[in-house]
Amino acid sequence: MKITIADRFTAEATAWLKSHSQFDVAVTTDPERLKVTDAVIVRSQYPLTKEVLDTMPKLKYAVTATVGFDHIDLSECAARGIKVAHSPIAHSAAACEHTWALLLACARKIVASDKTARTGEWNRHPLLGTEFSGKVHGIVGLGRIGTRVAKVARAFGMTIVAHDPYRDNAYFEEREATRVGLDELFHLADSISLHVPLTKETKGRINKVEFAFLKPHSIVVNTSRGGVIKEDDLVLHLKAGGHGMFGLDVFTQEPHRKGYELQNFPQVTMTPHVGANTREAFDAVSMEAARNLVALIAQAPVSGPLPPPEDWYQAVSGLAISHGV
Ligand code: NAD
Repeated sequence: MKITIADRFTAEATAWLKSHSQFDVAVTTDPERLKVTDAVIVRSQYPLTKEVLDTMPKLKYAVTATVGFDHIDLSECAARGIKVAHSPIAHSAAACEHTWALLLACARKIVASDKTARTGEWNRHPLLGTEFSGKVHGIVGLGRIGTRVAKVARAFGMTIVAHDPYRDNAYFEEREATRVGLDELFHLADSISLHVPLTKETKGRINKVEFAFLKPHSIVVNTSRGGVIKEDDLVLHLKAGGHGMFGLDVFTQEPHRKGYELQNFPQVTMTPHVGANTREAFDAVSMEAARNLVALIAQAPVSGPLPPPEDWYQAVSGLAISHGV
């Protein structure tokens, strides 16, 4: 069985795969190797589009060492009988912590503070921040990461409102979150974080309608996928002097094209899709993906089974995401 690792992966997880005598493991994107590979491990930088799948005619198994799977054409994989898994567990802590890093950076104007402290200007007047204590945090997508973010919000003394049509009331109660509609969430919350997968349903779902509901001094953080926010609407909202500070780790196009408008607004704090970019998460997700591949091959349960493509979870494929987890 030929296994090809086509993206960033740890030496430890590679060695673990190599320790299985039935596997021939190579770390490469050499087209000659891909032509004969039975299994592939990728991340978002190596999207499995129809065209890429055409270069791997023997492929039977594909695992992405990421939570997001919008870079994989699931319908095409299903049509070709390719079994696919993602790796949803290992990134949760890192993504939650980065969400809070951006929430805090926006609330306490960390980027501008760093600049004025560094230059010795010491211009504190524009740096008046906001507090989380006693406020309402809104979570869109109360899954693994959303649940962790809620836990931290409670530690700050916040109450939680959340929007997730795919979870039942008992699930919300366990997380001490009040179920609300999306518009209501934007109307009620002082800070908001997005934790939904990019699907046909969530693509562009956060747009001018939701921005119009934002309170003064509210904060919106997106560490999910760039396409969830309609970026053109956000630009217009900010140009019109609309409410809110925005912490963005993910973008419709990564890296940005030249002249990307959102980079001009001081209300926006940006990071280059580093939500899961910690040493711990990289080690853990490589092992999670390696174990999932071995389990897929053995027809054993994986940590990240993907629902059938016809399901609501069908990801939007063919997006120009080149960096990500
Ligand atoms: P998850 O599957 O555990 O949670 C997603 C939640 O979203 C689920 O509860 C689901 O019911 C809900 N949901 C789906 N469609 C919805 C809709 N239309 N409206 C409201 N809720 C909806 O996933 P997770 O592990 O929490 O990860 C969430 C996303 O975060 C991933 O899909 C991935 O794209 C992204 N992510 C980004 C980074 C990063 O580096 N920035 C790291 C990890 C994960």
